[in-house]
Amino acid sequence: MQNRRSFIKNVSLFSLGGILMGKSDLANASIMSKFLTSAGKKFGLQIYSLGKELYENLPEGLQRISRMGYSTLELAGYRDGKINNIEMGEFRKMTDDAGLKIISSHMNPPVREYNSSNKGAIVDFWKKAADDHAKIGVRYIVQPGQPVTRSTEEVSIVCEVFNEAGRIAKANGLIFGYHNHDMEFSRVVPGGKEMVFGRRAFGRDMPKGTEVIYDGFLRQTDPDLVIFELDVYWTVIGQNDPLEYMKKYPERIRLLHIKDKEVLGQSGMMNFEQIFVQAYKNGIEDYFVELEGISSGTQFEGVKGCADYLLKAPFVK
Ligand code: MG
Repeated sequence: MQNRRSFIKNVSLFSLGGILMGKSDLANASIMSKFLTSAGKKFGLQIYSLGKELYENLPEGLQRISRMGYSTLELAGYRDGKINNIEMGEFRKMTDDAGLKIISSHMNPPVREYNSSNKGAIVDFWKKAADDHAKIGVRYIVQPGQPVTRSTEEVSIVCEVFNEAGRIAKANGLIFGYHNHDMEFSRVVPGGKEMVFGRRAFGRDMPKGTEVIYDGFLRQTDPDLVIFELDVYWTVIGQNDPLEYMKKYPERIRLLHIKDKEVLGQSGMMNFEQIFVQAYKNGIEDYFVELEGISSGTQFEGVKGCADYLLKAPFVK
């Protein structure tokens, strides 16, 4: 991974307009980060990316995130009014101290299979979650886990619940969103017993009424109540083009997960330039870097590698 010092050499003084003068300043990573972020680049991090490493020393970890150039956060680990067992007010204070702003938070209701007998429990979950998050000034509450959807009927039930979550969020001054992985790009059929993924889903045997689950979510949720956080990497793994979805649903896709196989830009399988061009065109204000597993180094090193990629990328504003 490119370290900060070699990165500084690579971008060269020309592109910095000679604002940084002394060699000692150039060697100072913190000044470099602050310069580049103050130059207008604003990007966020999904804290799941750091896993347990973040909690080894949370205040210091948040400061490190800030020094890397991140300015916003999306939380993960909400449960019963706490984020990874830390009171949310306390968490918020630590992020304030680090100069980071919490924009969004991920959480899943306690059940995966939605039906009339557990709808009450799901509603209760969202009421408490919305109330807890409104208190710390979060804008979005986002569900990242796919509920059970084996048929078009189950997709419709899930959409009703999403709309209800959206109503609860709205009543608390928040916006409810849904985040995808790959299996939402499977297809389902009326009365179906399973999701069908990939080439098999386009076979001649697929009956009338077949629909891509994600398309069903977009079609059957209320645009006033539900937005979508498109995870661009998982969309590709789902054998679809994130650009196509962003072009087709500019009003619905309002958040992004900027993610690659590991550190941004290294796999060569993601066209981030086009994704960013389209995101600006769509007026997307917030996006979050996400790093899942990493094959070498620490999660912190990987997250820094992602920040360096964005700081250096000429297409990131
Ligand atoms: Mg994601």
